[in-house]
Amino acid sequence: MTAQSRDSIDNIWVDRTPYVGKWPDRPDYQLADEPERWVQSACVLCSNGCGLDIGVKEGKIVAVRGRTDDRVNRGRLGPKGMHGWIANHSDNRLTQPLIRRDSGQLEPASWDEAMELIVRRSKEIYEQYTANAIGFYTSGQLFLEEYYTLAVIGKAGLGTPHMDGNTRLCTATAAAALKESFGSDGQPGSDTDLDMTEGILHVGHNISNTQTVLWMRILDRLSGPNPPKLVVIDPRRTATAAKADVHLAPRVGTNVPLLNGLLHLIIEAGHIDQDFIDNHTMDFDKLRQTVAKYSPERVEELTDVPVADLRAAATILGEVKSLVSTVLQGVYQSNQATAAAVQVNNINLIRGLSGKPGSGVLQMNGQPTAQNTRECGADGDLPAFRNWENPDHAQQLADLWEHRKRTAPRLETADPCIGDLPLRGKRYFKDALDLGHQSRRVAAGPTSSTRDARSQRPLRGGSRWFSYRDDPSGRCRAAGSDLGRENRLLHERRPDSAYFA
Ligand code: SF4
Repeated sequence: MTAQSRDSIDNIWVDRTPYVGKWPDRPDYQLADEPERWVQSACVLCSNGCGLDIGVKEGKIVAVRGRTDDRVNRGRLGPKGMHGWIANHSDNRLTQPLIRRDSGQLEPASWDEAMELIVRRSKEIYEQYTANAIGFYTSGQLFLEEYYTLAVIGKAGLGTPHMDGNTRLCTATAAAALKESFGSDGQPGSDTDLDMTEGILHVGHNISNTQTVLWMRILDRLSGPNPPKLVVIDPRRTATAAKADVHLAPRVGTNVPLLNGLLHLIIEAGHIDQDFIDNHTMDFDKLRQTVAKYSPERVEELTDVPVADLRAAATILGEVKSLVSTVLQGVYQSNQATAAAVQVNNINLIRGLSGKPGSGVLQMNGQPTAQNTRECGADGDLPAFRNWENPDHAQQLADLWEHRKRTAPRLETADPCIGDLPLRGKRYFKDALDLGHQSRRVAAGPTSSTRDARSQRPLRGGSRWFSYRDDPSGRCRAAGSDLGRENRLLHERRPDSAYFA
């Protein structure tokens, strides 16, 4: 028995269900066989995280169906959600542990043997070098509960702050920009804001391809009563851009001047919420002075975006009474990534369109689970968006995890790894500059302080991160996710230092 609700490959976004207010339900399904039972789950093949049930027969997936009670998708599935599960049946999948033995070859092993090896080696490394010698670099494909468990193993069990996931390559920019603007890595917005918003801004985000179900939601708003205005910033004429009221196609690498130009026009036209700015933001005058240098004519020169198009976009962004702004890899993987992402946040902030129905910023992820990494503390952060700089937050975790103060490292002031870090952080930061990395952001990981990060702000401009930490013997150890050339160079520059590779 086979059946499907629609051909999601020939008709990716399917027919419209126009709406405003509540997105109508529309269930999708794909069956290769009649399931024995259904198991509630979610698709994690893009950041939308559509709710679905998995149909199981004889221990294998034989079907999927979208969950209409899930507010993310209201039953809809895109082509990946409907078909991606078929790959689970591939013979090439790794289903048992492999251990590289004396022969140098990876050989099958039992789970008990693999776990024993991991525990034994971790203990040896811990005893020899401390927990700071142990790092976790993990997938973006785990679920909330698994990520939290991982955070507890790493931070509470072993006591290492060196944890990261695919986030580092995917959405580190989003995390940095959210913290810089809002003080937390949590998204200040919701998909449901799209149900009522008057304006949508997509920056470097071809949502029609990357999140097909979320794009259905927007298409349904566009075809319903009171459609939102749509502004798209993308060098390419994508299917998303084709639907825009205004499509700005900047020269590659010029997101920041373009966004500066938009901010300048919005401020110049007086389309700002001064009360909101006064009560909820800092340094607005600095922003105003910075973007004042980006006249439409100068922006056209820098970006190739015509003055008239820039003005048209600024008028929409300045006049809509609610605005959802979204960002993805066209920002994260581009020049001056964090600065560009912050400038998108700033559009919503100066308009006072944050924390209100129909308004917010979504710094998108590659998978919903990539955000899980971040909110559960399986990356460089602490669980539930707790702040390393806040002793109360660290104490909460120390209490929750009941033992080992070093799980809340900033409480351990006797630890030379912590006590003098800000000073040393600056010193090594200078070394990094001397090594010719001025164009890259040297950012604060868990082992660095946000105070250092602030001192580095003027040099923001890239997506490669690394941070430094001293070991108890006083030698420099470079740690973080970019443990390649930079750290080796630093090590060569400082022969008394060691580095993890
Ligand atoms: S939109 Fe994303 S989460 Fe939803 S079905 Fe498609 S790939 Fe899966």
